Amino acid sequence: MGKSTLFNRIVGRRQAIIDSRPGSTRDRNYAQTSWQGAAFELVDTGGLLLGSDDPLLGPATQQAERAIDEADLVVLVVDGRSGLLPDDAAIAARLRKSSKKVLVAVNKVEGHDEVLNEFTALGFDRVVALSAEHGLGVGDLLDEALAEVPRVEVEEEEAPPRRLAIVGRPNVGKSSLLNRFLGEERALVSTIAGTTRDSVDGFLEKGGQKYQFVDTAGIRRGRHLKENVDHVSVVLARRSLERADVALLLLDAVEGLREMDAVIAGHVQEAGRAVVIAVNKWDLADETGIKQKAFREVIGDKLKFLPWAPIIFVSARTGQGLNALLDAASRAYESSRKRITTGQLNRMVAEAVKKHPPKGAKGNKEVKVLFGTQIGVCPPTFALSLNHPVDLHFSYKRYLENKIREAFGFEGTPLVIKVRTRPH
Ligand code: GDP
Repeated sequence: MGKSTLFNRIVGRRQAIIDSRPGSTRDRNYAQTSWQGAAFELVDTGGLLLGSDDPLLGPATQQAERAIDEADLVVLVVDGRSGLLPDDAAIAARLRKSSKKVLVAVNKVEGHDEVLNEFTALGFDRVVALSAEHGLGVGDLLDEALAEVPRVEVEEEEAPPRRLAIVGRPNVGKSSLLNRFLGEERALVSTIAGTTRDSVDGFLEKGGQKYQFVDTAGIRRGRHLKENVDHVSVVLARRSLERADVALLLLDAVEGLREMDAVIAGHVQEAGRAVVIAVNKWDLADETGIKQKAFREVIGDKLKFLPWAPIIFVSARTGQGLNALLDAASRAYESSRKRITTGQLNRMVAEAVKKHPPKGAKGNKEVKVLFGTQIGVCPPTFALSLNHPVDLHFSYKRYLENKIREAFGFEGTPLVIKVRTRPH
């Protein structure tokens, strides 16, 4: 049915606080999350396995039963493509008995809303269409689900640490920066169980915010390698990017931008992470006569693909700019997780399209943007529906991306814009 896909869609790719409750083995996944300011707990059950003899046997089923008992609202996920199945009806009957609030989520709909009618036969008033895989309708499902659910004043969950990867070519000052943040002491560093033996992370708390520097051992070791260091810095960068929320791309103020910086920046972009550019060794700026404005221009020229990344001038040696760097990293982190509502997006898109309508790639057909919705985070991903099966020119996507950034911020995070054609 796509329950797990839906679960992951709602919770986000990097769910912070998922746990398998003791005794639940892998049959129930819990996550605490929120939507538009409303905190809620989401449970993914193993499903109700309705056998022919005893419909309620089996540990997975018991787990699901328990989850239903504990829930304020049950989302019954059914498959819009296969239509109403006998199992759906059986589960619906079971749920009616529980007298819980039920919302029927018809998955895999992708635009064919007429299939919804079939599922009203289950006897629940509220039936919503969605495509968990494409992220369509998930926000609407949450709006609907949370409309009537009692809202509890929750104590602020302790925010998970922002995971930062310091990346850059050899000698830009990665390990010096780490030492500034963490001190030279190994005591501040702890090994994370379950990751590669080399993944040693360092933790820092500053201004009430926790940070986790990933793979500090790799960075410190890289410093001592004599050969093949360029290659090593790429390997280290790629590995740490995988586990990070935000990349701190370190550059060398004195040496300026080299080919290798662009190579590493390219890997950062490929990883889709939030990015802050840190120009290190700024303590030497006066001596060498470099100016921030000129350096920004060089970055704009050589790293054209990261125009949205904030640039902070720092010195690992003196500590200058390091608080600003952490603040920028925090803001980039928030940006990468930000969600805007379908209403907000559509108002903005309508205005942008009116000002500057898209041209069809295929001759004279008029292209219209019918609808836009945010389908994901990390990075924020938007889907636009068009009236014709054409793609938008990349420059038009760029235009819309800039408009989205103008309207909603998103500093420090890449954005993805996808185009779909509404089926007729
Ligand atoms: P890594 O290879 O990227 O880890 O770079 P290191 O941290 O080993 O630094 C390379 C060299 O640059 C060392 O000689 C550092 O002392 C020097 N360095 C690092 N950061 C700064 C800085 O902020 N200012 C100055 N003047 N030198 C720095």
